[in-house]
Amino acid sequence: MNNNTNSRKNAARTERLQQRADAGFVATHFPEVESIAINMMYNQKGIAKSLPRVVNFFPGSYALFRVDCLSKGCADGGFDLNQVITSMIRSRRKAAKGEISCEGNGPSPDHSSIVYEVDIQYT
Ligand SMILES: [Zn+2]
Repeated sequence: MNNNTNSRKNAARTERLQQRADAGFVATHFPEVESIAINMMYNQKGIAKSLPRVVNFFPGSYALFRVDCLSKGCADGGFDLNQVITSMIRSRRKAAKGEISCEGNGPSPDHSSIVYEVDIQYT
C-alpha cells in the first residue's frame, strides 16, 4: 500500500468519524428501537468463500447504519443501510432482506457485495 492510498484511507476514516458524530444516537432518533441486528454474508470478488458478519446496534449506538467494505484498496467503500433501516423503522417492520454492492471505488466496480438480513426489535 503506498502513501497516497494511506492518506486517502485516513481522510475517508476522518470523514466517517465526522458522519458518526453528526448522526447522533439511535435512542435520540428512534426511541422505539430496542436493538437492530444486521446479519450478512460478505462476498468479495475473487474469494470463493463468503464471510458471515453480524453488526448490532443499540440505543447507545450511533444512528449511522453503514458497514465498511473489507476489500483491500477500497478507500471510501461501504454498504449503506441507512435508507433500508430508517424506512423499516418508520413502518415498524421487523425483518427485511436484500443485497447491495459496495459503493466505493475499489479495485474493480463489483469487487464486493453483501446479502443482508435486518432484524429490528422494538420496545
Ligand atoms: Zn469496497
